[in-house]
Amino acid sequence: MALCNAVELLLCGQRLGREEGVVLYREATLPLLSLLATYVRLQKNGYETYYNRNAHVEPTNICLFQCSFCSYRRDAHSPEAWYLTLEQIAQRVKEQEAQGNTEVHITGGVHPSWTIEDLEQIVHTVHTAAPTLHIKAFSAVELIAIFQKSDLTWHDGLSRLKNAGLCSIPGGGAEIFDESVRRRICPEKCTGREWLALHREAHKLGLTSNATMLFGHIESYEHRVDHMLALRNLQDETRGFNCFIPLKYRAAHNALAVQGEVSLLEVLRNYAVSRCLLDNIGHLKCYWPMLGKKNLPIALHYGVDDLDGTIGNSTRIYSMAGAQDNRPSATVEELQQMVYREGFVPFERNSVYEKIVTSA
Ligand code: SF4
Repeated sequence: MALCNAVELLLCGQRLGREEGVVLYREATLPLLSLLATYVRLQKNGYETYYNRNAHVEPTNICLFQCSFCSYRRDAHSPEAWYLTLEQIAQRVKEQEAQGNTEVHITGGVHPSWTIEDLEQIVHTVHTAAPTLHIKAFSAVELIAIFQKSDLTWHDGLSRLKNAGLCSIPGGGAEIFDESVRRRICPEKCTGREWLALHREAHKLGLTSNATMLFGHIESYEHRVDHMLALRNLQDETRGFNCFIPLKYRAAHNALAVQGEVSLLEVLRNYAVSRCLLDNIGHLKCYWPMLGKKNLPIALHYGVDDLDGTIGNSTRIYSMAGAQDNRPSATVEELQQMVYREGFVPFERNSVYEKIVTSA
């Protein structure tokens, strides 16, 4: 009965609440979820499916914090620790721009000795070396820690980075907002409330952002639903989120590894429920270095309308945690053909989901 109510609400265009979200997770079959999520995605985005030409820059893997799910961080004295010089960053983004990329995604560890000046220099270096790139940089976790260290208000810190060339904020660090879960997986870093408040401040300053959720570890369905409803509430207020990106916990080389990983079917279930719940966030992204390129096509049938981008073998965060694509990279042709094969229509987009029309 509760499932029937949830389906009826959705098909009547009504907003789903906590109870309906949980019942979809618990009781809806995968074919039903595929149907519902596709219904919502067709209403929002039709058959259009987006990708961009992008790459990552990960300035350091040295991190102040020790989140138990993280396979990427290293202590400063570890032989596997590294950081990029400003010259190396400039060189990388120049190459990315020359390849036709439109966006650089910058995120990494919270380096213990970095201050606002270091972040400012990174953004300024990228902006000067590759002025056409949209700079999406630094998760709320990195920003909050560095602003605090630099004795800056969030408003002032964000304003300084915006003046240096920052265009938007990636969605990392959200994990699961519930504090009892956070205490177990990432007790040292910002709270869920702080993550949301930082994004609110960014949106007020005209910086859009993405939203993520790390799932498939110790959280419950209720925690996932509450997380998404908190994002939905903020989106009602600011309209600043560009997309939602569910991120599956990968189990290799981290302290939570004993928990194992959820199946592909659970990943699809999660895409579908999030598409049904987040009625005010325009796009649902499959970050394919997390899922594996071979699994991308099926995600399109569970509400996903955005494939992230070409990536260009520029990120290690998921491969260090055991993802299949050790050197994640995709060509535009590969992404386009995959989208056509699944019955959708590919469009290149910029970082705020405007279509990029290239001349023939
Ligand atoms: S998830 Fe981020 S903040 Fe946490 S340890 Fe890893 S790099 Fe550091």
